[in-house]
This record gives sequence, structure tokens and C-alpha cells, in this order.
Amino acid sequence: MNLRNCKRCGKLYTYNGIDICPECYKKDEEDFKKIRDYIDANPSATMIEVSRATEVTIKKIMDFLKEGRLILGSQNINIILKCERCGRQILSGRYCEDCSREIEKTLRKGLFNNINTEGSDDQDKLYLRDRIKNNRKRI
Ligand SMILES: [Zn+2]
Ligand SMILES: [Zn+2]
Repeated sequence: MNLRNCKRCGKLYTYNGIDICPECYKKDEEDFKKIRDYIDANPSATMIEVSRATEVTIKKIMDFLKEGRLILGSQNINIILKCERCGRQILSGRYCEDCSREIEKTLRKGLFNNINTEGSDDQDKLYLRDRIKNNRKRI
């Protein structure tokens, strides 16, 4: 039997592919439904209002958003979730589309080349340097 400690409450439970125990999972589901229903009914509510009305902590609401489980609609203008990389406003997850793509690219490159690139800026500079070199060669 595969026993684990629940990430939420610390209790021992039989691991079934989920990081939290069945009780916390059930609670999560209930909280999630409460949040979603409240946001649906009150699209202009702020994070604090949602937290107060549903009795779910802001941290947990943020977790739902970051896990990509809770997705904001474009009408939910007062709940602000920002890309952790560039600060652009997003509706779900941790990064905006552009940054997710960049991060994925960097990760993939890191896996193959084992080089830690700092993002596209450096690549542009490298590209420019190579071009200058090539131009010089031609001259
Ligand atoms: Zn638990
Ligand atoms: Zn971003």
C-alpha cells in the first residue's frame, strides 16, 4: 500500500495519484464549486469579496487559479491574476501565453544543450554578434 502525508492537512492516506487526502480533496471540490458559482453570479466581485462570501482563503483561490483549475472569464474584471514573469494580466495559470511559450522553449533548450539561457534577449544579441562576425569575414 502506498501511504503518503496529505499536502494540505498532513494526515496519512493511501496515495491514489492525488497529492491530498480524500477528505481534503472533497473539501477542495466543494470550495472550488462555491468559488465558481460565486464568481459566475457576481462577475465583478473582488478576490476579497469572493474569499469572504465563500469562506475560502485567498491563497487557496490563487492556488486554484495557478493550477489552471479555476479559469476567470473576461467579465471577472476585479480579480487580478498576473503573469509571474512579465506581470501581464491573465485569466488562469501562472504565466501568460507568450511567457509559457518562452519558458517551454528555454526549458527544452536547457534539456538538450544544458546551457542556461536567460531568455530571448541574449539570443538576439548572439545572433547579432554572429551576423557582425560574418559581415567582417566577408569584408
Ligand atoms: Zn488532507
Ligand atoms: Zn508573461
